[in-house]
Amino acid sequence: MVEFDVERIRRDFPVLATSVNNKPLVYLDSGASAQMPQSVIDRINHYHQYEHANIHRGVYQLSEQATAAYEAVRTTVARFLNVADTSEIIFTKGTTHAINLVAHAYGRKFVHAGDEIIVSHMEHHSNIVPWQQLCDEVGATLKVIPISDIGELDLEVYERLLSDKTKLVAVTHVSNVLGTVNPIKDMVALAHAREIPVLVDGAQGAPHMKVDVQDLGCDFYIFSGHKMCGPTGIGILYGKRHWLERMNPYEGGGDMILSVTFEKTTYADIPAKFEAGTPPIVSALGLGEAIDYLEAIGLDSIERYEKVLTKYATEALSDIKDITFYGTAPNKAAVISFNIKGVHAHDIGTLLNDDGVAVRTGHHCAQPVMQRYKVPATTRASFYLYNTIDDVDKLVASIRNAQKIFS
Ligand SMILES: *Cc1c(COP(=O)(O)O)cnc(C)c1O
Repeated sequence: MVEFDVERIRRDFPVLATSVNNKPLVYLDSGASAQMPQSVIDRINHYHQYEHANIHRGVYQLSEQATAAYEAVRTTVARFLNVADTSEIIFTKGTTHAINLVAHAYGRKFVHAGDEIIVSHMEHHSNIVPWQQLCDEVGATLKVIPISDIGELDLEVYERLLSDKTKLVAVTHVSNVLGTVNPIKDMVALAHAREIPVLVDGAQGAPHMKVDVQDLGCDFYIFSGHKMCGPTGIGILYGKRHWLERMNPYEGGGDMILSVTFEKTTYADIPAKFEAGTPPIVSALGLGEAIDYLEAIGLDSIERYEKVLTKYATEALSDIKDITFYGTAPNKAAVISFNIKGVHAHDIGTLLNDDGVAVRTGHHCAQPVMQRYKVPATTRASFYLYNTIDDVDKLVASIRNAQKIFS
Protein backbone atom coordinates (compact mmCIF):
# COMPACT_ATOMS: atom_id res chain seq x y z
CA MET A 1 0.00 0.00 0.00
CA VAL A 2 1.32 3.42 -0.97
CA GLU A 3 1.41 5.71 2.02
CA PHE A 4 -1.34 8.33 2.06
CA ASP A 5 0.54 11.54 1.29
CA VAL A 6 -1.67 14.04 3.08
CA GLU A 7 0.88 16.87 2.85
CA ARG A 8 0.90 16.58 -0.93
CA ILE A 9 -2.91 16.50 -0.94
CA ARG A 10 -3.06 19.61 1.26
CA ARG A 11 -1.01 21.55 -1.27
CA ASP A 12 -3.81 21.00 -3.80
CA PHE A 13 -6.21 23.04 -1.64
CA PRO A 14 -5.31 26.74 -1.64
CA VAL A 15 -7.62 27.62 1.24
CA LEU A 16 -5.77 25.28 3.61
CA ALA A 17 -2.74 27.56 3.47
CA THR A 18 -4.74 30.55 4.71
CA SER A 19 -5.13 31.91 8.24
CA VAL A 20 -8.03 32.80 10.49
CA ASN A 21 -7.36 35.16 13.39
CA ASN A 22 -3.67 34.90 12.57
CA LYS A 23 -3.80 31.14 13.11
CA PRO A 24 -3.50 28.58 10.34
CA LEU A 25 -6.95 27.45 9.28
CA VAL A 26 -7.95 24.08 10.72
CA TYR A 27 -10.94 23.11 8.62
CA LEU A 28 -13.12 20.53 10.34
CA ASP A 29 -16.46 21.17 8.66
CA SER A 30 -16.27 19.10 5.51
CA GLY A 31 -19.52 17.43 6.54
CA ALA A 32 -21.23 20.73 5.72
CA SER A 33 -19.13 21.55 2.66
CA ALA A 34 -15.74 20.25 1.55
CA GLN A 35 -13.00 22.48 0.17
CA MET A 36 -12.09 22.49 -3.52
CA PRO A 37 -8.71 21.52 -4.96
CA GLN A 38 -6.98 23.76 -7.51
CA SER A 39 -7.87 21.41 -10.38
CA VAL A 40 -11.59 21.92 -9.73
CA ILE A 41 -11.16 25.67 -9.40
CA ASP A 42 -9.16 25.71 -12.66
CA ARG A 43 -11.80 23.67 -14.45
CA ILE A 44 -14.49 26.14 -13.39
CA ASN A 45 -12.41 29.15 -14.38
CA HIS A 46 -11.50 27.65 -17.75
CA TYR A 47 -15.15 27.06 -18.54
CA HIS A 48 -16.06 30.64 -17.65
CA GLN A 49 -13.15 32.06 -19.63
CA TYR A 50 -13.27 29.97 -22.80
CA GLU A 51 -16.07 27.41 -22.92
CA HIS A 52 -19.29 29.04 -21.81
CA ALA A 53 -22.34 28.40 -23.95
CA ASN A 54 -25.75 26.90 -23.40
CA ILE A 55 -25.96 23.20 -24.08
CA HIS A 56 -28.19 20.87 -26.12
CA ARG A 57 -29.67 23.43 -28.51
CA GLY A 58 -26.75 24.98 -30.29
CA VAL A 59 -25.35 23.86 -33.61
CA TYR A 60 -22.25 26.04 -33.27
CA GLN A 61 -18.99 24.65 -31.99
CA LEU A 62 -18.95 26.28 -28.53
CA SER A 63 -22.37 24.89 -27.66
CA GLU A 64 -21.55 21.48 -29.03
CA GLN A 65 -18.37 21.38 -26.96
CA ALA A 66 -20.18 22.48 -23.79
CA THR A 67 -22.81 19.80 -24.42
CA ALA A 68 -20.15 17.14 -24.88
CA ALA A 69 -18.33 18.22 -21.71
CA TYR A 70 -21.56 18.21 -19.68
CA GLU A 71 -22.60 14.80 -20.99
CA ALA A 72 -19.12 13.42 -20.37
CA VAL A 73 -19.61 14.18 -16.66
CA ARG A 74 -22.75 12.03 -16.74
CA THR A 75 -20.56 9.17 -17.90
CA THR A 76 -18.01 9.95 -15.17
CA VAL A 77 -20.73 9.87 -12.51
CA ALA A 78 -22.14 6.61 -13.89
CA ARG A 79 -18.70 5.04 -13.64
CA PHE A 80 -18.20 6.53 -10.16
CA LEU A 81 -21.37 4.79 -8.91
CA ASN A 82 -20.90 1.69 -11.09
CA VAL A 83 -24.07 2.43 -13.04
CA ALA A 84 -24.27 0.66 -16.40
CA ASP A 85 -27.00 2.80 -17.99
CA THR A 86 -25.86 6.44 -18.18
CA SER A 87 -29.48 7.64 -18.63
CA GLU A 88 -30.09 6.67 -15.00
CA ILE A 89 -27.92 9.62 -13.87
CA ILE A 90 -29.89 12.85 -13.39
CA PHE A 91 -28.20 16.16 -12.67
CA THR A 92 -29.91 18.12 -9.90
CA LYS A 93 -29.05 21.21 -7.86
CA GLY A 94 -28.05 19.09 -4.87
CA THR A 95 -29.19 16.42 -2.46
CA THR A 96 -32.16 18.43 -1.21
CA HIS A 97 -33.35 19.14 -4.73
CA ALA A 98 -32.94 15.48 -5.73
CA ILE A 99 -34.97 14.21 -2.76
CA ASN A 100 -37.70 16.73 -3.51
CA LEU A 101 -37.65 15.54 -7.10
CA VAL A 102 -38.31 11.95 -6.04
CA ALA A 103 -40.89 13.00 -3.45
CA HIS A 104 -42.85 14.77 -6.19
CA ALA A 105 -42.21 12.59 -9.19
CA TYR A 106 -42.40 9.22 -7.45
CA GLY A 107 -44.54 10.26 -4.50
CA ARG A 108 -47.37 11.97 -6.34
CA LYS A 109 -47.63 8.96 -8.62
CA PHE A 110 -47.18 5.96 -6.35
CA VAL A 111 -48.09 7.09 -2.83
CA HIS A 112 -51.77 7.31 -1.89
CA ALA A 113 -54.02 7.73 1.14
CA GLY A 114 -53.32 5.07 3.75
CA ASP A 115 -49.83 4.28 2.41
CA GLU A 116 -46.67 4.55 4.47
CA ILE A 117 -43.16 5.88 3.93
CA ILE A 118 -40.33 4.76 6.17
CA VAL A 119 -37.51 7.09 7.19
CA SER A 120 -35.07 6.82 10.08
CA HIS A 121 -34.63 8.87 13.24
CA MET A 122 -31.16 9.98 12.04
CA GLU A 123 -32.23 11.66 8.80
CA HIS A 124 -31.18 15.14 7.72
CA HIS A 125 -34.18 17.47 7.45
CA SER A 126 -33.81 17.15 3.68
CA ASN A 127 -34.80 13.51 3.94
CA ILE A 128 -37.70 14.16 6.31
CA VAL A 129 -39.54 17.30 5.27
CA PRO A 130 -40.24 16.38 1.61
CA TRP A 131 -41.76 13.07 2.78
CA GLN A 132 -43.76 14.78 5.48
CA GLN A 133 -45.11 17.23 2.91
CA LEU A 134 -46.00 14.37 0.60
CA CYS A 135 -47.73 12.46 3.40
CA ASP A 136 -49.76 15.51 4.40
CA GLU A 137 -50.80 16.07 0.82
CA VAL A 138 -51.90 12.55 -0.07
CA GLY A 139 -52.93 11.27 3.36
CA ALA A 140 -50.05 8.86 3.87
CA THR A 141 -48.13 8.22 7.10
CA LEU A 142 -44.46 8.60 7.94
CA LYS A 143 -42.93 5.72 9.93
CA VAL A 144 -39.64 6.13 11.74
CA ILE A 145 -36.89 3.57 12.38
CA PRO A 146 -35.57 4.24 15.90
CA ILE A 147 -31.89 4.58 16.83
CA SER A 148 -30.05 3.01 19.73
CA ASP A 149 -28.00 4.81 22.37
CA ILE A 150 -24.79 4.33 20.37
CA GLY A 151 -26.49 5.55 17.20
CA GLU A 152 -27.38 2.44 15.23
CA LEU A 153 -30.68 1.81 13.49
CA ASP A 154 -32.91 -0.81 15.11
CA LEU A 155 -33.20 -3.30 12.27
CA GLU A 156 -35.73 -5.49 14.07
CA VAL A 157 -38.14 -2.60 14.29
CA TYR A 158 -37.33 -1.72 10.70
CA GLU A 159 -38.30 -5.18 9.56
CA ARG A 160 -41.57 -4.98 11.47
CA LEU A 161 -42.36 -1.57 9.97
CA LEU A 162 -42.16 -2.95 6.42
CA SER A 163 -45.63 -3.88 5.21
CA ASP A 164 -47.89 -3.92 2.19
CA LYS A 165 -48.65 -0.28 2.96
CA THR A 166 -44.99 0.76 2.64
CA LYS A 167 -44.40 2.56 -0.63
CA LEU A 168 -40.81 3.70 -0.07
CA VAL A 169 -37.92 3.47 2.38
CA ALA A 170 -35.82 6.66 2.49
CA VAL A 171 -32.69 6.30 4.60
CA THR A 172 -29.32 7.95 4.91
CA HIS A 173 -26.16 6.05 3.96
CA VAL A 174 -24.14 7.83 6.65
CA SER A 175 -25.49 10.04 9.45
CA ASN A 176 -24.20 13.61 9.23
CA VAL A 177 -24.36 13.92 13.04
CA LEU A 178 -23.58 10.47 14.42
CA GLY A 179 -21.32 9.25 11.64
CA THR A 180 -23.07 5.88 11.64
CA VAL A 181 -22.68 3.95 8.39
CA ASN A 182 -25.98 2.15 7.87
CA PRO A 183 -26.19 -1.43 6.55
CA ILE A 184 -27.83 -0.31 3.31
CA LYS A 185 -27.38 -3.59 1.47
CA ASP A 186 -29.23 -5.55 4.17
CA MET A 187 -31.92 -2.89 4.45
CA VAL A 188 -32.46 -2.95 0.69
CA ALA A 189 -32.71 -6.74 0.69
CA LEU A 190 -35.40 -6.63 3.40
CA ALA A 191 -37.39 -3.98 1.52
CA HIS A 192 -37.01 -5.70 -1.84
CA ALA A 193 -38.35 -8.94 -0.38
CA ARG A 194 -41.61 -6.98 -0.29
CA GLU A 195 -40.94 -5.16 -3.58
CA ILE A 196 -40.54 -1.85 -1.79
CA PRO A 197 -38.09 0.61 -3.41
CA VAL A 198 -35.31 2.19 -1.34
CA LEU A 199 -33.92 5.72 -1.65
CA VAL A 200 -30.49 6.32 -0.14
CA ASP A 201 -29.36 9.80 0.91
CA GLY A 202 -25.68 9.48 0.06
CA ALA A 203 -24.66 13.07 0.87
CA GLN A 204 -22.23 11.75 3.50
CA GLY A 205 -21.58 8.45 1.76
CA ALA A 206 -20.37 9.11 -1.78
CA PRO A 207 -17.65 11.60 -0.70
CA HIS A 208 -16.03 9.17 1.72
CA MET A 209 -16.23 5.61 0.39
CA LYS A 210 -16.49 3.63 -2.80
CA VAL A 211 -20.19 3.41 -3.66
CA ASP A 212 -21.42 0.67 -5.96
CA VAL A 213 -25.16 1.08 -6.46
CA GLN A 214 -25.46 -2.28 -8.18
CA ASP A 215 -23.96 -3.93 -5.13
CA LEU A 216 -26.13 -1.90 -2.70
CA GLY A 217 -29.15 -2.67 -4.84
CA CYS A 218 -30.92 0.58 -3.95
CA ASP A 219 -33.43 2.15 -6.32
CA PHE A 220 -32.28 5.74 -5.80
CA TYR A 221 -28.92 7.09 -4.63
CA ILE A 222 -28.42 10.81 -4.11
CA PHE A 223 -25.51 13.12 -3.29
CA SER A 224 -24.22 16.71 -3.54
CA GLY A 225 -21.12 17.96 -5.36
CA HIS A 226 -20.06 20.43 -2.69
CA LYS A 227 -19.49 17.76 -0.03
CA MET A 228 -16.97 15.97 -2.24
CA CYS A 229 -14.59 18.71 -3.36
CA GLY A 230 -16.92 19.98 -6.07
CA PRO A 231 -18.81 23.27 -6.29
CA THR A 232 -22.26 24.11 -4.93
CA GLY A 233 -25.30 24.01 -7.17
CA ILE A 234 -24.89 20.46 -8.43
CA GLY A 235 -26.12 17.13 -7.15
CA ILE A 236 -26.78 13.68 -8.50
CA LEU A 237 -29.85 11.52 -8.55
CA TYR A 238 -29.24 7.96 -9.59
CA GLY A 239 -32.50 6.15 -10.18
CA LYS A 240 -33.34 2.81 -11.71
CA ARG A 241 -34.74 3.16 -15.22
CA HIS A 242 -37.72 1.06 -14.11
CA TRP A 243 -38.78 3.86 -11.75
CA LEU A 244 -37.56 6.93 -13.60
CA GLU A 245 -39.55 5.97 -16.69
CA ARG A 246 -42.74 5.51 -14.69
CA MET A 247 -42.33 8.70 -12.66
CA ASN A 248 -43.93 11.97 -13.70
CA PRO A 249 -41.66 14.89 -14.50
CA TYR A 250 -40.95 17.13 -11.50
CA GLU A 251 -40.39 20.51 -13.13
CA GLY A 252 -41.67 21.55 -16.53
CA GLY A 253 -39.83 23.72 -19.02
CA GLY A 254 -37.18 23.67 -21.68
CA ASP A 255 -35.07 20.62 -22.38
CA MET A 256 -37.49 18.13 -20.81
CA ILE A 257 -39.94 17.97 -23.72
CA LEU A 258 -40.21 16.30 -27.09
CA SER A 259 -42.96 18.54 -28.36
CA VAL A 260 -45.26 21.23 -27.00
CA THR A 261 -48.61 22.48 -28.24
CA PHE A 262 -51.26 24.26 -26.20
CA GLU A 263 -53.23 21.01 -26.21
CA LYS A 264 -50.51 18.62 -25.17
CA THR A 265 -46.86 18.26 -24.20
CA THR A 266 -44.89 15.10 -24.84
CA TYR A 267 -41.97 14.55 -22.49
CA ALA A 268 -38.43 13.65 -23.38
CA ASP A 269 -36.93 10.35 -22.32
CA ILE A 270 -34.74 10.09 -19.22
CA PRO A 271 -32.49 11.75 -18.22
CA ALA A 272 -33.71 14.91 -20.02
CA LYS A 273 -37.24 14.42 -18.64
CA PHE A 274 -35.93 15.43 -15.20
CA GLU A 275 -33.60 18.25 -16.25
CA ALA A 276 -35.90 21.14 -17.07
CA GLY A 277 -34.28 24.45 -17.95
CA THR A 278 -30.63 25.37 -18.32
CA PRO A 279 -28.77 23.14 -15.90
CA PRO A 280 -25.82 24.21 -13.71
CA ILE A 281 -23.37 23.38 -16.53
CA VAL A 282 -20.25 24.75 -14.90
CA SER A 283 -21.04 23.08 -11.58
CA ALA A 284 -21.43 19.76 -13.36
CA LEU A 285 -17.99 20.20 -14.94
CA GLY A 286 -16.56 21.03 -11.52
CA LEU A 287 -18.14 17.89 -10.08
CA GLY A 288 -16.64 15.81 -12.87
CA GLU A 289 -13.22 17.20 -12.07
CA ALA A 290 -13.75 16.55 -8.35
CA ILE A 291 -14.61 12.91 -9.06
CA ASP A 292 -11.48 12.57 -11.20
CA TYR A 293 -9.46 14.06 -8.33
CA LEU A 294 -10.90 11.74 -5.68
CA GLU A 295 -10.59 8.69 -7.91
CA ALA A 296 -6.95 9.44 -8.66
CA ILE A 297 -6.27 9.25 -4.92
CA GLY A 298 -8.68 6.34 -4.53
CA LEU A 299 -11.91 6.23 -2.52
CA ASP A 300 -10.67 3.14 -0.69
CA SER A 301 -7.48 4.94 0.35
CA ILE A 302 -9.49 7.96 1.47
CA GLU A 303 -11.81 5.78 3.54
CA ARG A 304 -8.87 3.97 5.14
CA TYR A 305 -7.10 7.21 5.96
CA GLU A 306 -10.24 8.75 7.47
CA LYS A 307 -10.67 5.68 9.69
CA VAL A 308 -7.17 6.17 11.10
CA LEU A 309 -7.88 9.85 11.66
CA THR A 310 -11.25 9.19 13.30
CA LYS A 311 -9.78 6.60 15.64
CA TYR A 312 -6.98 8.95 16.65
CA ALA A 313 -9.42 11.83 17.16
CA THR A 314 -11.84 9.74 19.20
CA GLU A 315 -9.05 8.61 21.51
CA ALA A 316 -7.55 12.08 21.84
CA LEU A 317 -10.93 13.68 22.56
CA SER A 318 -11.81 10.95 25.07
CA ASP A 319 -9.09 12.29 27.36
CA ILE A 320 -10.96 15.57 27.70
CA LYS A 321 -12.80 15.86 31.00
CA ASP A 322 -16.61 16.07 30.84
CA ILE A 323 -16.92 15.25 27.16
CA THR A 324 -19.93 13.30 25.89
CA PHE A 325 -19.98 11.73 22.42
CA TYR A 326 -23.08 11.26 20.28
CA GLY A 327 -22.71 8.36 17.88
CA THR A 328 -20.24 5.66 18.86
CA ALA A 329 -21.27 2.87 16.49
CA PRO A 330 -18.43 0.52 15.54
CA ASN A 331 -19.02 1.21 11.85
CA LYS A 332 -18.79 4.97 11.66
CA ALA A 333 -17.45 7.58 9.27
CA ALA A 334 -15.25 10.60 9.95
CA VAL A 335 -17.80 12.62 11.92
CA ILE A 336 -17.49 13.24 15.66
CA SER A 337 -20.30 14.96 17.58
CA PHE A 338 -19.83 15.89 21.19
CA ASN A 339 -20.69 18.24 24.02
CA ILE A 340 -18.58 19.57 26.87
CA LYS A 341 -20.38 19.76 30.18
CA GLY A 342 -20.98 23.33 31.28
CA VAL A 343 -20.18 24.95 27.93
CA HIS A 344 -22.78 25.53 25.23
CA ALA A 345 -21.83 24.18 21.81
CA HIS A 346 -22.05 27.66 20.28
CA ASP A 347 -19.52 29.00 22.80
CA ILE A 348 -17.19 26.13 21.96
CA GLY A 349 -17.55 26.96 18.27
CA THR A 350 -16.83 30.64 18.83
CA LEU A 351 -13.78 30.01 21.04
CA LEU A 352 -12.42 27.43 18.59
CA ASN A 353 -12.76 29.97 15.81
CA ASP A 354 -10.43 32.26 17.80
CA ASP A 355 -7.83 29.52 17.34
CA GLY A 356 -8.57 29.17 13.62
CA VAL A 357 -10.48 25.91 14.14
CA ALA A 358 -13.67 25.65 12.07
CA VAL A 359 -16.25 23.24 13.47
CA ARG A 360 -20.01 23.21 13.16
CA THR A 361 -22.27 23.73 16.14
CA GLY A 362 -26.03 23.46 16.39
CA HIS A 363 -28.58 20.88 15.36
CA HIS A 364 -26.89 20.06 12.03
CA CYS A 365 -30.24 20.06 10.19
CA ALA A 366 -31.17 16.95 12.13
CA GLN A 367 -33.33 18.12 15.02
CA PRO A 368 -34.85 14.66 15.60
CA VAL A 369 -31.33 13.41 16.43
CA MET A 370 -31.00 16.20 19.02
CA GLN A 371 -34.40 15.21 20.44
CA ARG A 372 -33.33 11.55 20.60
CA TYR A 373 -30.30 12.41 22.75
CA LYS A 374 -32.09 15.23 24.59
CA VAL A 375 -29.62 17.96 23.74
CA PRO A 376 -30.29 21.32 22.06
CA ALA A 377 -27.09 21.22 20.02
CA THR A 378 -23.74 19.49 19.59
CA THR A 379 -20.32 20.44 18.35
CA ARG A 380 -19.35 18.47 15.27
CA ALA A 381 -15.89 17.93 13.84
CA SER A 382 -15.95 16.27 10.43
CA PHE A 383 -12.83 15.17 8.62
CA TYR A 384 -11.83 14.69 5.03
CA LEU A 385 -8.84 13.54 3.03
CA TYR A 386 -6.90 16.76 3.69
CA ASN A 387 -7.13 16.71 7.49
CA THR A 388 -4.18 15.67 9.62
CA ILE A 389 -3.24 14.36 13.03
CA ASP A 390 -1.98 17.89 13.67
CA ASP A 391 -5.48 19.24 12.97
CA VAL A 392 -6.85 16.88 15.61
CA ASP A 393 -4.20 17.95 18.13
CA LYS A 394 -5.12 21.60 17.53
CA LEU A 395 -8.79 20.79 17.99
CA VAL A 396 -8.10 19.08 21.31
CA ALA A 397 -5.85 21.89 22.55
CA SER A 398 -8.41 24.48 21.57
CA ILE A 399 -11.21 22.67 23.39
CA ARG A 400 -9.03 22.49 26.51
CA ASN A 401 -8.51 26.26 26.28
CA ALA A 402 -12.23 26.85 25.95
CA GLN A 403 -12.83 24.64 28.95
CA LYS A 404 -10.40 26.68 31.04
CA ILE A 405 -12.19 29.89 30.16
CA PHE A 406 -15.51 28.45 31.35
CA SER A 407 -14.23 26.74 34.52
C1 LIG B 1 -25.76 17.97 3.64
C2 LIG B 1 -26.75 16.88 3.70
C3 LIG B 1 -27.95 16.95 3.01
C4 LIG B 1 -28.37 18.16 2.22
O1 LIG B 1 -27.47 18.42 1.18
P1 LIG B 1 -27.60 19.79 0.34
O2 LIG B 1 -26.37 19.80 -0.47
O3 LIG B 1 -27.64 20.90 1.35
O4 LIG B 1 -28.84 19.72 -0.44
C5 LIG B 1 -28.81 15.88 3.07
N1 LIG B 1 -28.49 14.79 3.77
C6 LIG B 1 -27.32 14.67 4.45
C7 LIG B 1 -27.03 13.40 5.17
C8 LIG B 1 -26.42 15.71 4.43
O5 LIG B 1 -25.28 15.60 5.11
